Amino acid sequence: MAVHPITIAGEPVLHTRATAVEHFDDALRTLIADMYETMDEAHGVGLAAPQIGVGLRIFVYGMANDDGVPPRGVLVNPTLVTSKVSGAEPDEDESEGCLSFPGESFPLKRAEWVKINGFDGAGDPVEFEATGWFARCMQHEFDHLNGTLYVDRLNPRFARKAKKASKTNGWGQPGLTWMPGVDPDPFGH
Ligand SMILES: [Zn+2]
Repeated sequence: MAVHPITIAGEPVLHTRATAVEHFDDALRTLIADMYETMDEAHGVGLAAPQIGVGLRIFVYGMANDDGVPPRGVLVNPTLVTSKVSGAEPDEDESEGCLSFPGESFPLKRAEWVKINGFDGAGDPVEFEATGWFARCMQHEFDHLNGTLYVDRLNPRFARKAKKASKTNGWGQPGLTWMPGVDPDPFGH
């Protein structure tokens, strides 16, 4: 197993629709193990394959929840159904962050409920419903598989702030990564 560098906004794989996993083999299981290790080293609550430069439809998560779902898991080739997203302005306590937009956070409305279907690393079906922050996590990670970052969904006010942050940090170009456990933790965890 190995910790991988985490891609930063501007790296093309983060902005491209990922492709479906076709083979549930040892290579897939090694990749998933590396994703868990990288997520843990980065103190993240979720990590999608494009965030380690792999354009496949896989994410892992680590988040306690009130939905009776195991607090750690992997979704391969997931589908997602959500409740309607409120059109109200987001509150500050709805701030989201992303390891690929490191150190920043911006408020965003998300659906309160989702249902997710997919497969685990062995190819067995996984299905559950999620609410609240766990539902937010699922939406965030699922977005990664479609080349969407949460900053792409911000309202105009926060989108401007995110754009400014990206410019200040020198992001928005290919080739940028940070290394969990080596570089300072961007979120101070
Ligand atoms: Zn993210």
